[in-house]
Amino acid sequence: MYTNHHAHTYFSDGIGTPQEYVAQALAEGFTQYGFSDHAPIPLRDMGSMKLAELAEYSQVIGELKQAYADRIHLYKSLEVDYIPGVMNVDSPHILEANLDYTIGAVHYVDYLPDGQPWSFQRPNPVFEQGINTIFGGSTRRMVERYYTLVREMVTAHPPDVVAHLDRIKRRNLNGRYWDEHTDWYVAAVEETLEAIAGASCIMEVNTRGIYLDETEATYPTDWIVARAHTRGIRLQVNSDAHRREHISGGFREAYDVLRDIGVEQVHLYDGAKFSTQALDASKASNA
Ligand SMILES: [Zn+2]
Ligand SMILES: [Zn+2]
Repeated sequence: MYTNHHAHTYFSDGIGTPQEYVAQALAEGFTQYGFSDHAPIPLRDMGSMKLAELAEYSQVIGELKQAYADRIHLYKSLEVDYIPGVMNVDSPHILEANLDYTIGAVHYVDYLPDGQPWSFQRPNPVFEQGINTIFGGSTRRMVERYYTLVREMVTAHPPDVVAHLDRIKRRNLNGRYWDEHTDWYVAAVEETLEAIAGASCIMEVNTRGIYLDETEATYPTDWIVARAHTRGIRLQVNSDAHRREHISGGFREAYDVLRDIGVEQVHLYDGAKFSTQALDASKASNA
């Protein structure tokens, strides 16, 4: 009973058609599969879907939903960037897309001197260029600003699901830039979890770092998942696949993390709302 609510296709930066992902999902025994390509950013070419392509995306996913209705539940979503003053899940083109649910993400933290939004996921020299030019060389200020934006997102324009909460650690392998157990970092995470709990958003446990060998843990990492669970935040496991072979990548590790923490259920979209699925069912299918 595998499920996935966060996935990409060639409509944004994934490889392959939606149809090909459905075939893979059926082959792996998925019961639910949600498409969530990067929503168009009405700013400039950011590697996301173009605004003009959104209608086609909606149509293609809608047709697949109907065609496969008796075999798998397919859902139409978008991964929507939160960029202050530019876009959020309540932007007109997102509302008009009539999505089943929304996934909210922060990928850009303020602007480089040339006016381009700074993606903290870019490798060096761009990563350090952002820290140096936007945050005066302070990694701490950069990281705290990232979590402030996540809190703004869930407070002002809450998505149904918060994407890869600690994605900011992507370039921080082996603590290269900061210690993820230092007081100020833990405080920033805790404050953000409080905001997520207050907004009643679901938090995903994203496995992309595991199967790409970007990180040793899920996004967010184990201790953050544990604290989220303690705060009563609803959880779900997503692969954020950009290739067919990754649609269930890292799931075994992520469900092990949840079971170790004592999580007993995950929260899945059922076509009308999010409802619970006992983790034991996942355990049986993973065995
Ligand atoms: Zn993302
Ligand atoms: Zn994604």
